[in-house]
Amino acid sequence: SSALSIRQLTKTYSNGFQALKGIDLDVAEGDFFALLGPNGAGKSTTIGILSSLVNKSGGTVSVFGHDLDRDPAGLKRCLGVVPQEFNFNQFEKIFDILVTQAGYYGILPKVARERAEYYLHQLGLWDKRDEASRMLSGGMKRRLMIARALIHHPRLLILDEPTAGVDIELRRSMWNFLIELNRQGITIILTTHYLEEAEQLCRNIGIIDHGRIVENTSMRELLKQL
Ligand code: ADP
Ligand code: ADP
Repeated sequence: SSALSIRQLTKTYSNGFQALKGIDLDVAEGDFFALLGPNGAGKSTTIGILSSLVNKSGGTVSVFGHDLDRDPAGLKRCLGVVPQEFNFNQFEKIFDILVTQAGYYGILPKVARERAEYYLHQLGLWDKRDEASRMLSGGMKRRLMIARALIHHPRLLILDEPTAGVDIELRRSMWNFLIELNRQGITIILTTHYLEEAEQLCRNIGIIDHGRIVENTSMRELLKQL
């Protein structure tokens, strides 16, 4: 079955700039998919539309059959997004950030606390649970964003340049964490402008450039062509 289906997606920003010029994209359930492209290609715009932070101009988007226009709440329930920029309440304790997030999905407080504990352990942040998020290093903030995106157990996780600016050691441990999540059955899409990251992690790849998908193939096929 299909985890993500995008048809003829367009975005023209209010200054007239056409950031997406008719994107078609399909990602199957269980896939680990890379959306690769240079800066300015339209990756963040696409993710912004999926997370309802950017209004699309045209086209359709659906996640596990939930259409963004007709069933935005259904779409939201099965999607977790890790944005590029940190957008936490800087003064809230990190344990509370996760519990608050769970509350947005109607998760009971007891379950929310159990899940927060689980993901903080998984991501090596348990010792920091009582600190305000502004006290965390960049790498820790990134891991906290991953924990927050997983708290409602989404079936599809989308990460926007998850390891940009992260040192090599942490990058490897984040990669291993994502590989394990995918093994557990979560479909993962990440954007990157870094072919090695896509090569290490992903089975299938879409290449985006100037608001168009210019290639959509398996990682194996792509590497043969290079
Ligand atoms: P929309 O077309 O979705 O309404 P806007 O064009 O109004 O979006 O822009 C949303 C925000 O993005 C504004 O705050 C704007 O200043 C900012 N912005 C404008 N140009 C750029 C750019 N090239 N890259 C990133 N952000 C931008
Ligand atoms: P990527 O994530 O691939 O680097 P983006 O989706 O952030 O690309 O941006 C695609 C293009 O749209 C870029 O040329 C960027 O400057 C432009 N852009 C992004 N946001 C806005 C905005 N709010 N208003 C106008 N142009 C924007």
